[in-house]
Amino acid sequence: MAFKVLITDPISDTGIKILEERGLEVVYQPNYPEVDLSNGVLESIDGWIIRSGTQIEDFHFETAKNLKVVGRAGVGVDNIDIKNATRTGCLVMNVPDGNSISAAEHTVAMMSALSRNIHKGHMTLLGGAWERSGLIGNELQNKTLGVIGLGRIGREVIKRAQSYDMKILGFDPYVNESLFEGSEVELATIEDLYAKSDYITLHVPLVDSTKYMISMKTLKKMKSTARIINVARGGIINENDLAEALNSNIIAGAAIDVFESEPLSKDSALLSSKNILLTPHLGASTYEAKEGVSLKICQQVSDYLLDDKLLNPINLPFASFEDIKTLTPFLNLSEVMGLIQSQIIEEPIKSISIQCFGEVEEGKILSIGVLKGLLGSITDNRINYINAHSVANERGIAVSYSHSSESIAYTNSVKSIVQLQNKEITIEGSVFSDNIFRITNILGFDIDFIPSGHILCIYNKDVPGVVGSVGGVLGRNKINIAEFILSRSSNNNTACSIVKIDDFVDKNVIGHIESIPEVTKVFLLKI
Ligand code: NAD
Repeated sequence: MAFKVLITDPISDTGIKILEERGLEVVYQPNYPEVDLSNGVLESIDGWIIRSGTQIEDFHFETAKNLKVVGRAGVGVDNIDIKNATRTGCLVMNVPDGNSISAAEHTVAMMSALSRNIHKGHMTLLGGAWERSGLIGNELQNKTLGVIGLGRIGREVIKRAQSYDMKILGFDPYVNESLFEGSEVELATIEDLYAKSDYITLHVPLVDSTKYMISMKTLKKMKSTARIINVARGGIINENDLAEALNSNIIAGAAIDVFESEPLSKDSALLSSKNILLTPHLGASTYEAKEGVSLKICQQVSDYLLDDKLLNPINLPFASFEDIKTLTPFLNLSEVMGLIQSQIIEEPIKSISIQCFGEVEEGKILSIGVLKGLLGSITDNRINYINAHSVANERGIAVSYSHSSESIAYTNSVKSIVQLQNKEITIEGSVFSDNIFRITNILGFDIDFIPSGHILCIYNKDVPGVVGSVGGVLGRNKINIAEFILSRSSNNNTACSIVKIDDFVDKNVIGHIESIPEVTKVFLLKI
């Protein structure tokens, strides 16, 4: 059956054509929130493409059980409940660079218009007046522009502002200062930037640290001649505080493209503020950007659904599938180790610790494999690489990982220790040449087997006759033995047998084996 993709914001025809030509079924209803999602469409979709107009919330992820990917045609993903996407194993991807130029040009256009009262001149002319004396503006040359957020758009704005001969102050705690060495951007503290800038432009995401970054408290730190521009996200500025600051001349002007709640409410205080220039979220609204992000997101979503190809993931614990290609055999080993442990545990799990030895060091990534194997068979929820850690966290299972330089018998080894209330379940494995992986220790017994098919894992007293008794039970029940691998513990006279069998065995047969007096425990493993 073809993958189905829902689109609830406008996407260009050429983008939709990419999906259709690749055999995907498209449900195009680009008028969110007026879209009817109560008709079972959510339950049937594999992908969902949106812009900034659609709000994807927790209940959408709960309902859309088959949803594998949400594609945001654009940068900001604050309209997507990422936490719940991750929890339900849905990938979120965006197009981070598709509209940077449009947003940067809009910022500079807003700054220029604000500075020269272009919007006011236009409105007074339309009103029949020839107003000039009240609309004297300022040049940008030699003024100081404070840029908060030195990412893609912030840097494009800087390039353009430099052509106006502005002095640039930049603030971004998360960029390497060496990036700006020798450039004409002076990195400043946020306090200095507020105090010295004539224009302040925001290019940060809306996250906890930036929510209401601009409030009455910070507005009061700015020059009374300062003008502020926000083409980033609503919610970074406290709108009521801004309106008050403009009306009481605490700052001189503001140009705002994005709002806390969109569309902007008719009773927003901003609409009646002095010295304000407003646009209805037009930052990315150019034909070039719309076409670019439409094509890119449709390509990305179809690549992911059809070919597992990954670009610009937001909520994946590693940057790309390419990055983990070399780790694939180790991930497969970890997943099987987790799966085996899930079939042995009989008590609630408290914690999981992954230890890597030798030439394999990526404990964090391998812990995802173990969790996927371990949790995949004990919950109805879809468990994948995206949500494995989040599901563990939700269940109160602590996960840790480390690399040890301890010398080992193999070139590499991965050990998973599942801590239960009263005991530990340990398993170790190693990847050999040709990417074949083998289990090398189970519950403390050194052993060597390829984990596949149906396996009986039998613990018994190390005395003569057990192999014959087990073989007898299986023979009487017409179950063929493919391999019988033994491991003995020298210190407490116990042994462990791995018996690979051709067919599934039912509980009665397990009961017969367990009733052999020397047998202490039997686990049936299915890999
Ligand atoms: P980006 O990720 O490239 O850059 C964001 C920068 O902000 C990063 O360098 C990051 O280190 C910095 N940052 C994060 N928290 C910070 C903090 N507390 N203080 C200072 N810096 C901080 O993003 P971008 O592509 O440049 O986009 C910037 C913003 O513009 C985003 O919010 C995006 O959603 C928005 N945007 C709006 C429109 C529009 O239509 N108006 C269009 C495109 C993008």
